Amino acid sequence: MRSDKFLSAIEILEQGSKFALVAHVMPDGDTIGSCSALMSVLMENGKHVDMYCHDTPPANLSFLQGVGDFRKRVDKNVLYDAVICLDCSDETRLGDCGSVLSNATRTVNIDHHITNTEYADINIVDPDASSTAELVYALIGKLNPKALSLPVCEALYTGIVTDTGGFVFSNTTAAAHRIAARLIECGVDVDKLNRLIYKNTPLDKVRLLGIVLNSLEMHMKDTIAFLTVSRSMIKQAGFTDANYDDSSTEGLINYAIDINGVECAALFKEIENNKTKVSFRTKTKIDASALATRFGGGGHVRAAGCTIEENLEKSKVLVLEALKNMLDGMV
Ligand code: AMP
Ligand code: MN
Ligand code: MN
Repeated sequence: MRSDKFLSAIEILEQGSKFALVAHVMPDGDTIGSCSALMSVLMENGKHVDMYCHDTPPANLSFLQGVGDFRKRVDKNVLYDAVICLDCSDETRLGDCGSVLSNATRTVNIDHHITNTEYADINIVDPDASSTAELVYALIGKLNPKALSLPVCEALYTGIVTDTGGFVFSNTTAAAHRIAARLIECGVDVDKLNRLIYKNTPLDKVRLLGIVLNSLEMHMKDTIAFLTVSRSMIKQAGFTDANYDDSSTEGLINYAIDINGVECAALFKEIENNKTKVSFRTKTKIDASALATRFGGGGHVRAAGCTIEENLEKSKVLVLEALKNMLDGMV
């Protein structure tokens, strides 16, 4: 089943000459790494590739090949043989770049979210994969096994290492380790990438950590932990529009989910007055993707997210209500 779909995707990639790759809104290492890797391989094969992302990729990923080339606007007159969406569970995750789906004769969706809506002509969706990068690695292996150049390996490794939280989250598998081992054999410098991705913290992010930890709220006999990131906290930490991006808040939620006895952590990030991005992490009792789906979002069993069109306080009330319903009688 999965290999039939891989074959169809390979046929499209081999026969076409002009492709668009799309990353998801508020991009992370997996969506950007997957795009970068596939772009490099296709370009090495003489193809024309444009990459799209609604938001600017985080600064800590700027070492990846092609990361400066993402476009935010879609010109409806530019036509592609195929559009390939990477790590995007549904069309809303493409943001304004979703319109590019109409600029192509074929569409391909490569993803590992359990909530994927299979919106493309060919949907390579495997919720057992640690990351989309793992699926791109398999695709590249079938397309051109000699294509594992260092930039391609670094991009794939970045996708796997970021989505597994450095090979510790519940989506960490033997397969993910095997692929990582192969990428290291091909030249990936683990220490170098770890420094570039994680050990390069902007001072403002450390200041923000201090402020955000002070916002900790515990609910339901200390089984639920909420953290808040308001726009004023971001400003107070010293961020400006120029140096603030999604990596500025990445990892903060782990301080909440890692608390002894906490079953579910939620991080509420104020986007606009009545727009709150919520990240969920869960331990054993709650399906994070089911919780996020209640608010029109999605994700995985242990990590998911959604955007609620309400202010911070109202969003917290709504999430707490949903959690109370889900956890009724459980804790
Ligand atoms: P985050 O909390 O943003 O790190 O996201 C955790 C996981 O949930 C990632 O795999 C995201 O791709 C996914 N996710 C986050 N927000 C959404 C959303 N609004 N819709 C679908 N999936 C999401
Ligand atoms: Mn992602
Ligand atoms: Mn992913």
